Amino acid sequence: MRIYISADMEGISGVTNPDYLQPGEPNYEYGRSLMEHNVNAVIEAAWESGATEIVVADSHGSGNNLRLSRLHAAATLISGFPREHYMMSGLDANFSAVFFVGYHARHGTPGVLSHAYWFKNMTVNGIDVGEIGFNAIYAGMLGVPLALVTGDDRAAEETKLLMPDVVTAVVKHALSRTAARCLSLEQSRKEIAERTTEAMGRLADFTPLKVALPAEVSIEFFHSGQAELVLGIAGTIRHPNSTVVTYIAEDAASFYRTMETMATLANTARFF
Ligand SMILES: [Zn+2]
Repeated sequence: MRIYISADMEGISGVTNPDYLQPGEPNYEYGRSLMEHNVNAVIEAAWESGATEIVVADSHGSGNNLRLSRLHAAATLISGFPREHYMMSGLDANFSAVFFVGYHARHGTPGVLSHAYWFKNMTVNGIDVGEIGFNAIYAGMLGVPLALVTGDDRAAEETKLLMPDVVTAVVKHALSRTAARCLSLEQSRKEIAERTTEAMGRLADFTPLKVALPAEVSIEFFHSGQAELVLGIAGTIRHPNSTVVTYIAEDAASFYRTMETMATLANTARFF
């Protein structure tokens, strides 16, 4: 059983505001240690439940948050940026399942640090998705099911709406976009371990999230400058008088890569 873990930071235990998220911010060093705590809880439980290989993709910011020296010895670590299919880098059809650790609700919802890459909204074939949905669809295109999501209660809710069978571990309850009631680290570890063991125990039950191909992806940006920037990508169409840009994805690779390029470009034009 090969397990792929995509680890983000906004849905990690105790992380409640941007002070935890970027190098140089006052709580960043603490935040990355909390991320290691949650990721290690998943690795340990997955390993004890029979995983034969565990790959962790550090999928927050520039992908350099998890320190190899502090990661559970059973896993290998994908680190750094840029890399193809960023949050899902290295995933292939031979994995049994993907786990999302420290994930968060999409932009516009009241989840802790809610957002979706650098976009206001994303839809795939008309369905609203955030990072949970988009990345699960990408994994589904490769034939790999999502089995576990850890994060706040809003991330769990968003997961269940799209994929009711996926196991969720709630480590904090959102009070606002930048406040939460947090489980203690020991309670988090226990919850994550139990939910991971549950997911590992019924891996055969999960089905890959499937969407019709070619898939139509619509990205809504925060301002027209971002929409104008991404029109340099072949195959993009801008909706008149809006900040929405659409592309058609024929396969998994173009589905993710086009979005990833849009996110990278949008991040260079944050002025609004
Ligand atoms: Zn993140």
